Amino acid sequence: MKTEQVAKIKKRLISLRDEILKVIEWRDAPGGTNGAMDEIDQANELIEKEMGFVMSNNMRANLKEVEEALARIEKKHYGKCLHCGEEISLKRLDVLPFARYCVPCQEKMESRSR
Ligand SMILES: [Zn+2]
Repeated sequence: MKTEQVAKIKKRLISLRDEILKVIEWRDAPGGTNGAMDEIDQANELIEKEMGFVMSNNMRANLKEVEEALARIEKKHYGKCLHCGEEISLKRLDVLPFARYCVPCQEKMESRSR
């Protein structure tokens, strides 16, 4: 993968992480989310758009995935399937920048867990 592609994805992951952190902070803030709902909605919208799916309440799990992707970028392992070691297609990474597995491996795992 080209350096500038990785740099672009890294930027997206960092802003995604910031948005997720914001939502977690708001949710955990004493007094609930009073007054911050609009901002949370905006952040949620961005996260949903970035991730291509509606986020559950599982913000911390999502945060972990984003952080792991960033760690892989630092270690220069980014873009490779953690299962088979093949490069994950750019198209997939564009949709899911923190993807851990290539499409065939992901499908295999999903069909197994079903
Ligand atoms: Zn794979």
